[in-house]
Amino acid sequence: MNIPLSRPDITEAEIDAVVAVLRTPHLSLGPKLAEFEAAFAGYIGAPHAIALSSGTAGLHLGLQTLGIGEGDEVILPSFTFIAAANSVLYQRATPVFADIDPLTLNLTADSIERVITPRSRAIILVHTFGYPADLDPILKLAGKHNLRIIEDACEAIGAEYGGRKVGGFGDLGVFSFYPNKPITTGEGGVVVTRNPSIARQMRALRNQGRMENDGWLEHSLLGFNYRLPDINCALGIAQLSRIDGILASRERVANQYYEALQPYPDITPPPMAAASGRISGRISWFAYVVRLPHGTRDRVVQALTAQGIDCRPYFPPIHLQPLYSTDTAPGQNLPVTEDIALRTLAVPFFNHLSNEEVLTVSEALARALQDI
Ligand SMILES: *Cc1c(COP(=O)(O)O)cnc(C)c1O
Repeated sequence: MNIPLSRPDITEAEIDAVVAVLRTPHLSLGPKLAEFEAAFAGYIGAPHAIALSSGTAGLHLGLQTLGIGEGDEVILPSFTFIAAANSVLYQRATPVFADIDPLTLNLTADSIERVITPRSRAIILVHTFGYPADLDPILKLAGKHNLRIIEDACEAIGAEYGGRKVGGFGDLGVFSFYPNKPITTGEGGVVVTRNPSIARQMRALRNQGRMENDGWLEHSLLGFNYRLPDINCALGIAQLSRIDGILASRERVANQYYEALQPYPDITPPPMAAASGRISGRISWFAYVVRLPHGTRDRVVQALTAQGIDCRPYFPPIHLQPLYSTDTAPGQNLPVTEDIALRTLAVPFFNHLSNEEVLTVSEALARALQDI
């Protein structure tokens, strides 16, 4: 038996769409790029979408176009993927970690307010595991302190808050299409924004600093090569065209896990939207992350791995990573993050996971706990 943690879902039509690009001379900066950007902007309901080589590139250019640099503090969760904090370091700015809500695992206005200082300039607001962060109070707080907001929606394509898609609330929103995300372009990302000046700068920065009216060997800005090839854009267009079905499949799998785990009170499933008034909106299921009793996770991982079931402790806190632990911000106090991160385990989760596999994984989890 082998049940992977995630598995991309690529149709024959998608393979054909990629091959069709290879029969044209437009492999980069061609018509599929513009088409993908227009489709994505339309899906989120944002005026501008800029496709990039990765979500990480989007976070990096996001901070750069917002003017974040040395001496500036950027508030973000420690309980997330390391790319968010790294993008702050790329800009020589200072990451300041705020704690998370124990239910939604997201930053809250309260946890953000506790770490605001006169140097705070921006918030990277992660919609963790596809749960929409409680945006209204956070937007209000950001307005009061003149903080810019980057929504890291890399795990939250299609998640909604107040009936609107996340990613479109902040100064800009970042999405990723790495193969473990709900839709993939192999590698890739998109930034959405309402701000035409950010969009213009970002198009220049991804393309070696060439502004709109620059020639091919004219470079107004210090840019990067963060372009997304048309080959990948063609895959993105096709994947995006069936996003509703993809998100529905993932919700089906999440519901099946929830049912399958009911007999086992030691395994805490992720909250379902209806289960709590604190989740305001629609979850986009990115991963299935259960919580285990303290002191059991390592042995559960061993037991599942031995049976060919992949699992991973999402996420080790960033402030405890070797790269960050040496220059930990003084007075850092992240009790919820540190507690949760010792107990969370992501189990296999992807569009075509069968109910039988869901039951197999759930029973293996329960047996592993029983044997401890
Ligand atoms: C996947 C992910 C990223 C990075 O995206 P890449 O496309 O792999 O660079 C950033 N933030 C979060 C929360 C992610 O899950």
